[in-house]
Amino acid sequence: MKNSLKIGQVRGIRIEVNYSWIIIFVLITLSFATVYFPANFPQWPPYIYWFLGAVMPILLFASVFLHELAHSLVSIKYGIPVPKISLFIFGGMAHIQKEPDTPVKELFIAAAGPLMSFFLFIFFSFLTSIFNLLGLSSIVTVPLFYIANVNLILAIFNLIPALPLDGGRILRAVLWKWKDNFQMATRIAANLGSGFSYILILTGLLFIFNGNLMNGIWFIFIGGFINQSAQQSYQHSNIKTLFEKITIKDLMTPSVISIHQHMYLKEVIEEYFYIYKHSCFPITEGEEVLGIITLDDIKKVSKELWDTTKVTAIMKTLNENLIILYNEKAFDAFQKIMSNEVGRLLVYHNNKMIGIISKTDILKYINIYNELH
Ligand SMILES: [Zn+2]
Repeated sequence: MKNSLKIGQVRGIRIEVNYSWIIIFVLITLSFATVYFPANFPQWPPYIYWFLGAVMPILLFASVFLHELAHSLVSIKYGIPVPKISLFIFGGMAHIQKEPDTPVKELFIAAAGPLMSFFLFIFFSFLTSIFNLLGLSSIVTVPLFYIANVNLILAIFNLIPALPLDGGRILRAVLWKWKDNFQMATRIAANLGSGFSYILILTGLLFIFNGNLMNGIWFIFIGGFINQSAQQSYQHSNIKTLFEKITIKDLMTPSVISIHQHMYLKEVIEEYFYIYKHSCFPITEGEEVLGIITLDDIKKVSKELWDTTKVTAIMKTLNENLIILYNEKAFDAFQKIMSNEVGRLLVYHNNKMIGIISKTDILKYINIYNELH
């Protein structure tokens, strides 16, 4: 489902706005136009409340966008592509294609966003002061003053040293450089991220108990989001570190048991599935693999037909998504296996099947590794 709208392109980066952002636009406009402006600037005409009310979320939006653009441009400078920047309900995200391979790159990419926000804060504060000195109307200076403060808040919030925030990335880069251990650095920054997310959630609950429902929900929402991202960062770093050390050979089961193409389901269930207790077998004719049959495929056929149905009638025909070459990277196998429909890959070398890898094999490997480290 398409839930974003493309609004432009900068240096090959696609700029997208998620539809959830409309909710923020309406909420911010309403609260400025109906509550905040009328209470603080009774001298303004009512249409100005609504006009500036609508300008405020756009300024916020532009600030978030420039923050993300700063991250993206530094990333591109280091040769790491950024296909898109998306702006959504919590703010924005630059989709940096892969994690930087050195702490110095990570540090500069992470620091660029808060630096941009801080620069915008100085710039708009300066502009506000000049306009105030020139005696310009509050209709001009108030939005500028706001946008200056929004940028200051963006800079400070993002510098909190907790993954996935920029401050967490900066902390991780420094620890990574200092201790030369990416995984440990990620663990510390991600733990701080989880800790910080619990503080946000507790603060949200306190707000709710004191009758401030809107702020409460907001804090809990952001807390939950940070908590989830912190854990993902940590798991991702674990998997990344692990996969640098292993090869397809470590993951695969050699000497695959395969089923001849002329067999019927009943024989196969009794002579293969019950005997070897695998939930999947390749179907072969001589040395050539024709496809794969899984327990799920068999379950779809009613029992009365097991006697008369051949395996070839219900197998999944061999295709690109079911194969990995022996010399490919273990991480590629992992990604392919997580996305293909059978959770398995046949390993090929010199046009011959030499092994099989299942999702369970990989998860077991990861578990054993985690137990030992
Ligand atoms: Zn940032």
